[in-house]
Amino acid sequence: MRANYHSHCDYCDGSSSARAMAEAACAAGFGVLGISSHAPLGRGLYEGNMKLPRLGGYLAEIRSLAREWEGRGLEILLGLEIDWLREAQSPRDALFAGLGLDYSIGSVHLVDLGSGPFAVDESAESFRARVEADAGGDARRVWKAYYEELCALIEAGGFDILGHLDLVTKYNRGGELFDESDPAYREAALGAAALLGGADIVIEINYGAMLRSGAAAPYPAPFILRALRERGVRVVLSADAHAPEQLGPAGSGAREAAREAARAAGYRSVALLSKGSWTEVGIDEA
Ligand SMILES: [Zn+2]
Ligand SMILES: [Zn+2]
Repeated sequence: MRANYHSHCDYCDGSSSARAMAEAACAAGFGVLGISSHAPLGRGLYEGNMKLPRLGGYLAEIRSLAREWEGRGLEILLGLEIDWLREAQSPRDALFAGLGLDYSIGSVHLVDLGSGPFAVDESAESFRARVEADAGGDARRVWKAYYEELCALIEAGGFDILGHLDLVTKYNRGGELFDESDPAYREAALGAAALLGGADIVIEINYGAMLRSGAAAPYPAPFILRALRERGVRVVLSADAHAPEQLGPAGSGAREAAREAARAAGYRSVALLSKGSWTEVGIDEA
């Protein structure tokens, strides 16, 4: 049973309607498609997020789509990708409680080094500019802040799936922004992995950046994935799809890379959320 829980549509920064995403998923043989638009975010922090007045329409449309596709071999789930930012946004916020979501993805995109939140995955240029402006040129402060937020998210709980665990590396191609072999960096990432060992949350092997920005490998890095496997942390494969074709043949090479990353870390199965409960499915069928 092939499933993808991380899909965006035109309620946020996706290119197409949820219906077009469903058609692509069905054609590609997915049995479960979770729609997870970027949840509304206070203070207008990130323009890719859904605007608050559209939330009601989103919930109604995805629920209606789910009913429509029920008999057509595709289970559609209603989700949201909710930004985590301490004291600004959490899944326990009144805004999200009682929406009746099938699941939520918790993601750290934003860190605040003192002059306001910025998205670590926006661009290499904005990353560098913030390091200069807010951190005196010391990029280590960005990943430290990132993993502090991530650990706070894990400890707070309330999310079902953790999004792209080491997103802070997105534009660090060839180590041009910071050194990922720095023992302190590895310790910070492994600290998050250790916390996850005792947490009730599923981790993504997210191949979205392979589809959209030319990344060579999925998140998270192999050393993190091995640590997660050793701690018994469950994983799902996530396309983080922003366009229908990313669920189809154009995405299949990246999905196979995600399966291979799982196998290399010692996984033999991935988690499956269907009909309201989590089970496991063999990697080859995922
Ligand atoms: Zn994200
Ligand atoms: Zn996403």
